[in-house]
Amino acid sequence: MSAVPTASSPAALPADPQAILQQVFGYAAFRSQQQDIVAHVTAGGDALVLMPTGGGKSLCYQVPAIARHRGGHGVALVVSPLIALMHDQVGALEEAGVHAAFLNSSLTSEDAQRIEREMMSGRLVMLYAAPERIATPRFLGQLDSLYERGLLSLFAIDEAHCVSQWGHDFREDYLSLNVLHERYPHVPRIALTATADDLTRADMIERLQLDEARVFISSFDRPNIRYSIVEKDNARAQLLRFIGDEHEGDAGIVYCQSRKKVDETAAWLVGEGLNALPYHAGLDAAVRKQNQDRFLREDGIVMVATVAFGMGIDKPDVRFVAHLDLPKNIEGYYQETGRAGRDGAPADAWMAYGLADVVNQRRMIDESPAGEEFKRGQRGKLDALLALAEAHGCRRVRLLDYFGESSQPCGNCDNCLNPPATWDATEAARKALSCIYRFHQNGGQRFGAGHLIDVLRGKVTDKVTQYRHETLSTFGIGADIAETQWRAVLRQLIALGHVRSEGEYNTLELTGSAREVLRGEVQLLLRRPSEVQRRGKSGRGSGAGGGRERPPPIALDDAALGRFTALKAWRAEVAREHNLPAYVVFHDATLAEMARELPGTLDALGEISGVGAKKLDAYGRDILRVLGG
Ligand code: ADP
Ligand code: ZN
Repeated sequence: MSAVPTASSPAALPADPQAILQQVFGYAAFRSQQQDIVAHVTAGGDALVLMPTGGGKSLCYQVPAIARHRGGHGVALVVSPLIALMHDQVGALEEAGVHAAFLNSSLTSEDAQRIEREMMSGRLVMLYAAPERIATPRFLGQLDSLYERGLLSLFAIDEAHCVSQWGHDFREDYLSLNVLHERYPHVPRIALTATADDLTRADMIERLQLDEARVFISSFDRPNIRYSIVEKDNARAQLLRFIGDEHEGDAGIVYCQSRKKVDETAAWLVGEGLNALPYHAGLDAAVRKQNQDRFLREDGIVMVATVAFGMGIDKPDVRFVAHLDLPKNIEGYYQETGRAGRDGAPADAWMAYGLADVVNQRRMIDESPAGEEFKRGQRGKLDALLALAEAHGCRRVRLLDYFGESSQPCGNCDNCLNPPATWDATEAARKALSCIYRFHQNGGQRFGAGHLIDVLRGKVTDKVTQYRHETLSTFGIGADIAETQWRAVLRQLIALGHVRSEGEYNTLELTGSAREVLRGEVQLLLRRPSEVQRRGKSGRGSGAGGGRERPPPIALDDAALGRFTALKAWRAEVAREHNLPAYVVFHDATLAEMARELPGTLDALGEISGVGAKKLDAYGRDILRVLGG
């Protein structure tokens, strides 16, 4: 099934969770709630785990699966919707000495039969399977037999929010997962997700019948991610500068809304000398798979993608996620940005947004065939995201507040690092609204933002002359305000719902609530548009200029840097031989620690975080040789 060497016999695995963490995974301590979750599930309890992306969900079921296997309970079934990634997940477990396999449509029938035999014998510790396989009569028959023999140790349901119709990841097949509980009531279940809103949570509990499960909610903070939201000026140039200044040679994801924009942006980045690839649902499946594989396996690829890309991508060293278009809501934004920095090292979430984004997103909601109640919900969610984008205070405080967590200013977002100036735009907003009103009075015509701003600023254009708008009382009343500031005012007015933008030409129209602004009852405090700020490298190690290698996750002196480079070259060889991404062999952070600590013995090497017993056994001598060379 995979080209990985056979795992050591299960009996060699430790039985105690702490020992499993240290010996199998090579980590010193559990993170936050992991320990409680692991203890609860290992003892046979049901759990619903809400943890942010990168929080460490996998260990929450992998450690109990190993412990229960050692206790004689047989195989754990892991349900995951992402068959494209099962190969790497299983490969990582086998590398760590845990006997695991996956069953999906990509296998030959010979391989599938071999894995089924391993499963039925109880030798397998973990079996990954896609949800559509679970409810098939053949598979249920096999589970029946395992259950009768007491060899079904655990059900882990990953991406459990897929069961909820409210989310955008809904999967019909998840609805049938109930069968696991109904048919095998004595097998403990753990459901995991990074989606935290109340509605989805209630849905998961109801549909997966998890009323008895203990709910573990972790903090949703991702402290190593720096959030920045900039106003669109020339988005491509801004993106290029962002990548060039802070992420040269790094792996990252650039999200765009449409397939067309994905293709164009990827081609443009390639033209600018970047290693960029496109990914969207319109591409041929083989191309899609190839691009995803390259992103996972090669260093420093920039994936330009629609939101079709990313669910379950557990590449730990994605150093940035950039949005060139506004996501639909904060949930989407948080999920997408959460793909950065899963390894805990500094990472960036960067977004450029502008007036057109606000207009587009509003229009997509208005024009969707959904019911009015649903649309109202969508608009509310969009408003929350717009408020985040326009915020002058800490971005993280707002994000966490949205997920029901209170916190203090973080010191690691654009607004904390460079507090924006604000200006009182109340008067300007009234001028803009009355100008729109005058257009309407003056012949019932409607106009878009560009023309409105020209009139406010007193610019005599052909269009102004054509409609005799130089005669309006509002002509030139806003000449003292820069065009970018006017755009910010309009963005805010549209975001707040005082102005609606409609039709093919995005013409502007007042809404009922505009009256309150005109009467001066609403105060508008806006960010002052900043000159594009160049930020420092934020302590990410010193780069040696053009074409440099990605800096290691911890500071290294020259000699250690040389060893780090040698270790990476060695790792690339191993990864190629085993047909796995490099990070499955060892994370960058682990290699960097080896390079710095320079262990001289196998025992000392085993102390390094990320080096478990199996890897020490398989690679220890080679590593010592590389370090000694
Ligand atoms: P999630 O599935 O929640 O997004 P993962 O399970 O992929 O997160 O874990 C994210 C990263 O953190 C992985 O690289 C994993 O190896 C690492 N990790 C998880 N738990 C620990 C721990 N207790 N100590 C050190 N590293 C950990
Ligand atoms: Zn902050």
